[in-house]
Parts: sequence; structure tokens; C-alpha cells
Amino acid sequence: MNLRDTAEEASFRAELRAWLAEVVPALPPKPPPHDWPARRAYDTGWQRMLFDAGYAGVDWPLEGGGRGASPAEELIFKEELERAHAPYVGVNFVGLLHAGPTIIAEGTPEQRRRYLPPILRGDEVWCQGFSEPDAGSDLAALRTRAVRDGDDYVVTGSKIWTSHAEVADFCELLVRTGPEDSRHRGITWLILPMGAPGVEVRPLATIAGSTEFAELFLDGVRVPAANRVGKENDGWRVTMVTLSFERGTAFVGDLLEANELLGSLVELVRRTGAWSDAGLRRSVGHLRAELDGLWALTRRNVSQAARTGVPGPGGTFFKLSYTEARSRLGDLCLEVLGRAGLAAQDLEGADGRGPLPSATMVEDWLRGISLTIAAGTSQIQRNIVAERILGLPKEPVAAGSAAATK
Ligand SMILES: Cc1cc2nc3c(=O)[nH]c(=O)nc-3n(C[C@H](O)[C@H](O)[C@H](O)COP(=O)(O)OP(=O)(O)OC[C@H]3O[C@@H](n4cnc5c(N)ncnc54)[C@H](O)[C@@H]3O)c2cc1C
Repeated sequence: MNLRDTAEEASFRAELRAWLAEVVPALPPKPPPHDWPARRAYDTGWQRMLFDAGYAGVDWPLEGGGRGASPAEELIFKEELERAHAPYVGVNFVGLLHAGPTIIAEGTPEQRRRYLPPILRGDEVWCQGFSEPDAGSDLAALRTRAVRDGDDYVVTGSKIWTSHAEVADFCELLVRTGPEDSRHRGITWLILPMGAPGVEVRPLATIAGSTEFAELFLDGVRVPAANRVGKENDGWRVTMVTLSFERGTAFVGDLLEANELLGSLVELVRRTGAWSDAGLRRSVGHLRAELDGLWALTRRNVSQAARTGVPGPGGTFFKLSYTEARSRLGDLCLEVLGRAGLAAQDLEGADGRGPLPSATMVEDWLRGISLTIAAGTSQIQRNIVAERILGLPKEPVAAGSAAATK
């Protein structure tokens, strides 16, 4: 990949920058973090603006309703959005970053026609129903059952940690269609309409007080067989495609946010006089270098995804390294905040120069921890790097259990 903008890329960047300079300052204020219907309206409203301006699905192929941009343009798009402090994908995360890309890669032409345009327009929001109370890291242990009945599957079971389920229209749902002990050979990937009779969403509160998660209870829910993505019992392969997007490319916008957080940390370090601490300077410099290295890895992963249609195992390495670096960045912010790091609001600084960014930094610290768990924990990513990238021997499987896979 050429690291300098070509004439065409420079013109794409300039046009996008001008558009963002016009629209971002005129956006309404962000809704309160715990008001999910208002957040849905805000995030989907922003998505609609991108769509109307021709910037929705920049990296999606033209047949998927996207712009069909090159990897370089996709990264320019992300860089410019970060530069302009534009909103992030928010509740559109699953639809735009992994359910939509999975349907592009694995869906039928009818599924692509039906589901992709509303995601790009911000009309429909998706959530992910993979994890279950006894199937997180060991996702192949999932038990939610789907039985074929005529043209439908009848689904019964429960899911947990379903982000944004409260405001979602559809769910990428993993169900067991094979025998109980069929593990990864008996899983099917379904599109579940969240409004179907028998779907119950019970919100869960996080440590930060947000109800971004929910439990999902499914009681005899009829899902048309036409909503199956891939073949029956071939859902594990489709899941690997979804996870490769979730780990490989979905965190890119997040990395750009981490750059912003590092900038705020440097400002805070200067303001508090902690810059004189050589150890702290070294830690900040180290993180700067790590984030730069991760941006280079992102370029590689995005180029690979553009060549092959899906991100490769580099995505696992990226997810592991990025979320661990992000978590250390959160720790460093708290260290510099000192006692203010115990607060959930912006506290007035002792220097009389206005509030310290304690609320944002504390929230970000908690988020940093959760990112090392979401989309598969760090331990699981290490297992995958060891076994699938480095070719080390597989971890021993105890009788009655199985190797963790998510
Ligand atoms: C912010 C966030 C958003 C999420 N959103 C969703 C969502 O929308 N949809 C969804 O389906 N799920 C979602 N999840 C759930 C997430 O995928 C699971 O939490 C994750 O896969 C871990 O599963 P678990 O919580 O059951 O932990 P467990 O699997 O019970 O793991 C517990 C601990 O044991 C370790 N462990 C387990 N097996 C091994 C092993 N073989 N080797 C070494 N260590 C091991 C783990 O690393 C972890 O530290 C989300 C989670 C978070 C934090």
C-alpha cells in the first residue's frame, strides 16, 4: 500500500473534509449516555446523513450498496472522521461492521437486497446473539435450539451480553441445529427479527450504570428458513467470517479514538506538571509507538480484507494488541488523574484552570477493560495466535470440555 495520497485520494480527502467541516459543527448535542432510544435516533440520524452524502458503506462493494472505495480511501474516511470529531458508528456497530459484511460475504442475493440498504441508510439496527450463559469463550458449546418446522425454524433458548438488543431490529443469531453434542458441526447462523413473537429482551446494567447489554429469551420463536445465512449446520464457518470482521476491521475506528485519548492524556500530563517524570514520559512514548504500529497493522489488515473479501488472522493479533494497549492507556490516565480518578464526574482542577477530564477518562478506563473481553477475551486471542498463527501445539482438551474458540 502506498502511504502517500494519490491525486484521486487527495481529492476524496479534501471533498470529505469540506463536507465534515460543514455538517459536524451543526450536529445536535449528543444524547445522555443511558438514553438508548435517543442514542439510536442520534446514531441512525448521523448514518442517514452519511448515506445522503454518498459516504455510507465507503468500504462496502457497489453491489452491497456501498461506495466500493479502495482500502486507502477507507482509511482516509476513518482518519477524516476522527479529525473532525464526527460521531462513531454507535448502535450501528453490529450492522455496519460485522453483520452487514457477513451478509455481503455469505448471504444470498435476496438477503443482500433485503438487509444491506436499510443498514446503510440507518433504518435498521442489528445486535449479536452469540454468547450464552454457558457458552462464551467456548462458543461451540451453545445450546439455543432451532428445530425445522415447514418453512420456519422454531427457536428456543437464551443469549446473554447482547449489546444494543433494546434498540435492535435484527439479531445475528447462532443456534444449534445438530445433535446436542455436535459442537461446531451443528451450528446455524440465522437472522432473527427482534419483533417476532416469543422474543423477550431483559436489559442488564453494567458497572458504569449503562444498560447497553441485555439478556435475550427466545420461546418458540418462528424464524423463516429464508433467514438462514449459509447452509444448515455450516454456521461455524460463517461465524468465523463474522468474527474475522469483528476482530479484524471493526476496531479500526476505536483505534482512532484511542489516539484522541492519548492526546488528552498528554495535555493532562503537561497541565499537572507530571511531564517531569521520566518513567511516565517513557510510558506515554511507548504507547504512542504502539498505536502507530497498530495503525500500520490496520493498513495491512484492511488491504488483505480488500484482496480476499475477509480479514485474515492478523485481525486476531490486532484485537489482542490493541485492546491490551488501550487498557494500559486507561491505567495511565488514571495514574495521572490521581485522586480525581476516583470520580465519575469532571472535577475542578486545583490549578483553577477548569475541570479535569476525569469523567471521560474513568469511563474510558472501564471501557478499556471491557474491550479485552468483548469479541473474545485476550486469553482466547492468545490461544488463537499460538495455535493458528504460530502453529504451536493445541491446548490439551479435558474430557467433557473442549478447546475455547471465541
Ligand atoms: C463490552 C462487551 C460487549 C459484548 N457484546 C456481546 C454481544 O453483543 N453479543 C454477544 O453474543 N456477546 C457479547 N459479549 C460477550 C463476550 O463475547 C464474552 O463475554 C466473551 O466471549 C467471554 O465469554 P464469558 O463472558 O462467558 O467468559 P468465560 O468464557 O466464562 O471466561 C472466563 C475467563 O476464563 C478465561 N478462559 C476461558 N477459556 C479459556 C481457555 N481455553 N484458555 C485460557 N483462558 C480461558 C477467559 O479468558 C476469561 O478470563 C460482550 C462482552 C463485552 C465485555
